[in-house]
Amino acid sequence: MTAAASTKRRIAIAVSGIVALALLASPLPTAAASAATAAAPMAAKSHPTKSVSKATTKAATKATAARTQAAAAVAAADYSSIFATQQPALTNSGWATCAAAITWSVDTGGLSADEAAAQIANLTWAFDQWTPASGLAFQYTGTESLAYDDAAFSLKPANGSAMQSRHVYLAFVADGDSARLGGGTVGLGSPSQVWPSTKEIITGAAVFRTDHVKQANAREDKSLYMHELGHVLGLAHASETSNIMYPVVSDHTDLGAGDVNGVRSMNKPCKAAA
Ligand SMILES: [Zn+2]
Repeated sequence: MTAAASTKRRIAIAVSGIVALALLASPLPTAAASAATAAAPMAAKSHPTKSVSKATTKAATKATAARTQAAAAVAAADYSSIFATQQPALTNSGWATCAAAITWSVDTGGLSADEAAAQIANLTWAFDQWTPASGLAFQYTGTESLAYDDAAFSLKPANGSAMQSRHVYLAFVADGDSARLGGGTVGLGSPSQVWPSTKEIITGAAVFRTDHVKQANAREDKSLYMHELGHVLGLAHASETSNIMYPVVSDHTDLGAGDVNGVRSMNKPCKAAA
C-alpha cells in the first residue's frame, strides 16, 4: 500500500466519526416572520451618517463620526464560529485555501427547469460573493440527486456513492419533507465534516425551502444563499444588520466587515496531500 493510499484511508476514518455536526444547522426565520424587518429601510440603516443636515453643528458631526466609527468597529468584530457554543473543540474550523476550487452540486428538487436554472445562477452568484473575502474558489459541478436526512441534517448522494471531499451539497427541499424547514425557517446550512487535527472543513451542506424560494424575489434568494453559505464556511449568526450572517431574511446582498473578517480568520492554509 502506498503512503498516499494509507493517508487517504486515515482521513476518511477520522471524518466519519464526526458527521453529526448538523446539530449546528442554524435556522433562518421565514420571510413572513421577518416581513417587518425586511420592509425596513436597510440601506438607510447601513449608512447612518449620510443624512447629516447642513444645520448640524461641527460638534454633532464629530460625535456622529465617532459613533459611526464605533459602530463600524462593532460590526467588524461581529462574527463567531458555528462551533463555538456546541463543539468548542472545533471552534474556528474553516476551509483550506487550496488553489483547486471547492466544488458544489445541487438537487433542484421540485423546481421547474426554468426555476432551477434561475436559482443555480443565484447560487453561483452567492458563492462568488464569498470568493474575494475568503480567498476560496468555488466550482459548480452540476445537479445531483441527493438524499436529505432531516433528523440528522445530512445530504448525501442518493445513489449511495461516497461523499466527495472539498464539496458542498445543496438541495431545495419541500416544506412537507422537513420538520426543520417550515414555520420559522427557510434555509439551513452547516459544515458537515471536519478534519479534527487541522480543523479543516471538508464537506458542507445547505438546504432551502422550495416554496419560500419561489415566492421570494431574486435579491432575497441571493441573500438567503449567501447567509447559508456563510454557515457552510464556518460562521455562526451575527448581531449587526450590516453582516450577511444577521439571522433575518432580507434583500441585503453585501458582505459586512464581520462576515469578511470572520471567514478570513477561520480559513486554513492549504496542505495538499498532507
Ligand atoms: Zn442562519
